[in-house]
Amino acid sequence: MIHINDLHFSYPDGNFSLDISTLSINKGESIAITGPSGSGKTTLLNLICGVSRPQSGDIIINGTSLKQQNEKALRQYRIAHIGMVFQSFELLEYLNALDNILLPYRLDKTLHIEKETVERAKEIAGTFGMEDKLQRYPSQLSQGEQQRVAIMRALITGAKLIIADEPTGNLDPKNTDLVADMLLDFVKKEGATLVTVTHDHTFAKRFDRVIDFTQLLKGEKDA
Ligand code: ADP
Ligand code: MG
Repeated sequence: MIHINDLHFSYPDGNFSLDISTLSINKGESIAITGPSGSGKTTLLNLICGVSRPQSGDIIINGTSLKQQNEKALRQYRIAHIGMVFQSFELLEYLNALDNILLPYRLDKTLHIEKETVERAKEIAGTFGMEDKLQRYPSQLSQGEQQRVAIMRALITGAKLIIADEPTGNLDPKNTDLVADMLLDFVKKEGATLVTVTHDHTFAKRFDRVIDFTQLLKGEKDA
């Protein structure tokens, strides 16, 4: 699903650079990436999503090299194939839960909201125990509920790659367990690949594979 080769990236100010010699993630695999703050985990997720572009090396997703895509194609690829979940939820306050879930459809002209789309949103909401809260605005939802909305938004388009950056970082232990269960169950059921950054070791243990980010970077220096 994802192959990274000889990746080198640095920010324009030159203060931070990231080197990964090789990383492969299989289709349908759930991966937890753990590592110290500031080590470049979010930077890696941005590279996989095509938000940032490496100076050298390549990322190949489903046989397509990101290097060969222009900005427009990368944006299109991201909207069509990747579901993203952020630590800070990133919900729009002026949209109710249902419209927040359907947001990807508003951001992309090639996706259309059909009757089935709304049905799917309601079905997913059922799975996440949120079916009776779809009319509420983010300010009327608990933290755990807001994060569930953010996760549903990442899942609504049926993307086969889900990228989650510390999705339980702002949740209490009870909600962390709940959200973790729901997310892991859902991606397994859909056969989607899940790449998650997390500081939570109990959460990480439930993934198919845990990648220690420090070791991943060291792999480069030792090689
Ligand atoms: P992590 O997610 O592991 O906490 P990040 O990938 O967010 O780490 O950041 C890695 C390093 O890159 C940090 O030193 C951070 O300050 C720096 N960094 C992050 N974003 C930018 C940016 N847009 N421009 C310059 N430096 C950045
Ligand atoms: Mg981060």
